[in-house]
Amino acid sequence: MCGVFGIRSTERDVARLAYFGLFALQHRGQESAGIAVSDAGRLMVMRDMGLVSQVFTEQKLQGLHGDLAIGHTRYSTTGATHWANAQPLIHHGRARTVALGHNGNLTNAAELRAELLEAGVKLGSTSDTEVIAALIAHDEAPLEEAIANAMRRLVGAYSCVALTEGVLVAFRDPLGFRPLCLGRIGDDWCVSSESCALDLIGAVYERDVHAGEIVLVDAANELRSTMAAPARPDGALCIFEFFYLARPDSRLDAVEVHGARVRMGERLAAEAPAIADLVMPIPDSGTPAAIGFARASGIPFSEGLIKNRYVGRTFIQPDQGLRQLGIKLKFNPLAEVRGQRIVVVDDSIVRGNTTQQIVQMLFDAGATEVHVRVSSPPVVSQCYYGIDLADEDELIAARRTVEEVREHIGATSLSYISLEGLQEAVLRPESAVCRACLTRKYPTAIPTGAATAKMKFEVTPA
Ligand code: SF4
Repeated sequence: MCGVFGIRSTERDVARLAYFGLFALQHRGQESAGIAVSDAGRLMVMRDMGLVSQVFTEQKLQGLHGDLAIGHTRYSTTGATHWANAQPLIHHGRARTVALGHNGNLTNAAELRAELLEAGVKLGSTSDTEVIAALIAHDEAPLEEAIANAMRRLVGAYSCVALTEGVLVAFRDPLGFRPLCLGRIGDDWCVSSESCALDLIGAVYERDVHAGEIVLVDAANELRSTMAAPARPDGALCIFEFFYLARPDSRLDAVEVHGARVRMGERLAAEAPAIADLVMPIPDSGTPAAIGFARASGIPFSEGLIKNRYVGRTFIQPDQGLRQLGIKLKFNPLAEVRGQRIVVVDDSIVRGNTTQQIVQMLFDAGATEVHVRVSSPPVVSQCYYGIDLADEDELIAARRTVEEVREHIGATSLSYISLEGLQEAVLRPESAVCRACLTRKYPTAIPTGAATAKMKFEVTPA
């Protein structure tokens, strides 16, 4: 999962606005961050490993001038974790130079990459993103046609922002797996993975970039739109975005995420009631569904668990003697759970280890019953479209019944929302979303074989 942002303005400090846009999208990727600017067509990029606030300083931002900017926050799915894969990537091709940021995952990246290498194209990174940039950069057709030609070759998920030829470009795969929306700040156009970034910079949400659409904002600030792929009545917007990935204050396909999560909790309370004294979330993504559960069931809501918000992905690992710190690094229960029957609401159970430790922690804190309620159906299969869930044999629900999962996590009871219940909560028909990790029905061809599944490539330095 990644976050992308783009803006065009001759009046505003585009690099600074991209910085704040990325800041709002930080939840979509914490591994690396970058901003590329175009100043009268000249491209410059600054990217590094780390959080947005670690990568950019005031001084660095002041060095990024231009009338166009794109930004990216990365959480690696395809390609290894190292600097060369930080984005935006710049690729110099026969026809043009392209700076590109990508959210998603191609399922045919290995074939396309092999073709490009065969044709003598030098690739400097191991990510599938450079494959997209290279296809556009080496195509001598006019820009819009070159992007459309590339899109006809790409299979999988891609919501992209790019700078080339002094133009800001955004395009989205024909099934629209990953979100991408357009906004306006005054007369200036901007584009973002999620609407929460538009809110932060004071932009107004205009609409989503359509699945299969190419949007270009040119030097005259004119917005041009072309459909690269024929409009389809269906789509495949990732349903995981609704219950876990997106920020609750974002709108996906015009549906407010927080409201959808509250509806999931209300539905869970109707489908899987529990006799209990308190409803509490596993913070933060379980909170709206816990609010919905409490509201619909009439059981009081409690914070229950306090989360340390400063635990990042890279903290000093406890040594053997401190292993018992475990989950306590992240959560600590409140005294009020003692002697209580508790409903714990989480957004999903992937491997099950965290849930197991939280259940144990609540019993240790004196809870008499722990009823786990989950606002997604069991996750049974891996994602090929940009979410690093886990391989199928690591997914706890892939080969276990609900009762076996309950036993594993040690809960008093366990229930998941039904697929129909989730579908109704997101206000989108089944034909409009991807649910493949819940149903094993993939909307595109998927790579076969474990080696291609994760699509790890060797580095070929440019
Ligand atoms: Fe989202 Fe799951 Fe589809 Fe991946 S497989 S795009 S996580 S719904």
